[in-house]
Amino acid sequence: LFGYVGIEAVLDQMKIKTMKTGFEFNIMVVGQSGLGKSTMVNTLFKSKVSRKSSQPEQEERIPKTVQLQSITHVIEEKGVKMKLTVTDTPGFGDQINNENCWDPIIKYINEQYERYLREEILITRKRKIPDTRVHGCVYFVPPTGHWLRPLDLEFMRRLSKIVNVVPVIAKADTLTLEERAEFKQRIQEDLKTHAISVYPQEDFDQDPEDRALNDRIREKIPFAVVGADQEHQVNGKRVLGRKTKWGIIEVENPAHCEFPLLRDLLIRSHLQDLKDITHNVHYESYRVRRLNESNR
Ligand code: GDP
Ligand code: MG
Repeated sequence: LFGYVGIEAVLDQMKIKTMKTGFEFNIMVVGQSGLGKSTMVNTLFKSKVSRKSSQPEQEERIPKTVQLQSITHVIEEKGVKMKLTVTDTPGFGDQINNENCWDPIIKYINEQYERYLREEILITRKRKIPDTRVHGCVYFVPPTGHWLRPLDLEFMRRLSKIVNVVPVIAKADTLTLEERAEFKQRIQEDLKTHAISVYPQEDFDQDPEDRALNDRIREKIPFAVVGADQEHQVNGKRVLGRKTKWGIIEVENPAHCEFPLLRDLLIRSHLQDLKDITHNVHYESYRVRRLNESNR
């Protein structure tokens, strides 16, 4: 009927549009205090994600996080601007009674949906609604080497209903490679037993190709990560790493830890998917819930 349509030209238009407006991507880190969340935020920004946008080298100690705090960097590559925001949260689980320790986190996530909803239901809407919604929530599991604790299960159960949860094994350098693999296996079993659906959720695979790719990721989740915000000299190169008695653990070296897998999943391979699921699934169910409430 049409002959050659030239859909490529449409792709170009989409690309130009994204280049002009840029896009927002928001990540949150949660977990008990002392598991390396704040360090991981720095690791993300200092790793190759944003090495080009040079920022002054800060070597000061990371203070204890006492409130929710967001850091935003605009990263520009090949003319496309990404506004990357990482929200750091104070550790929980420090109290004797950890009941409801997830409340502030869940409140924050819902507040961002609410903000978006309020803009969306205005009669005169902005052409582009500012997006502060959390697209990925990295949950830090303590490197006990045993099973998930009831607190981890409960927290992840609640979170996974409202946001994409990406669990990681924190401070993986404190475990041997065998311990990491075994712990990972147990965590996967635990999540399955308790029907906790972390990202990438099987229900949302779009086609067999997607499924095959995500199956490979699901086998590796939770990633055993190591964070560092100091650079060291290794073979004449500056690398981000931790100094231990066995030598330097290079956080960006896939042979040393799985931080590169986490970064690639979040910021490269699955960025658009994380945004899509946030909008089409998590935000959508918030929206339906809220509008039903107000119609009552
Ligand atoms: P937060 O409370 O979760 O924000 O944890 P911090 O980022 O403040 O880190 C707490 C302590 O753990 C600091 O002394 C960090 O240097 C250290 N740390 C952070 N990441 C790692 C890691 O991957 N491995 C090890 N061994 N220590 C880490
Ligand atoms: Mg902290």
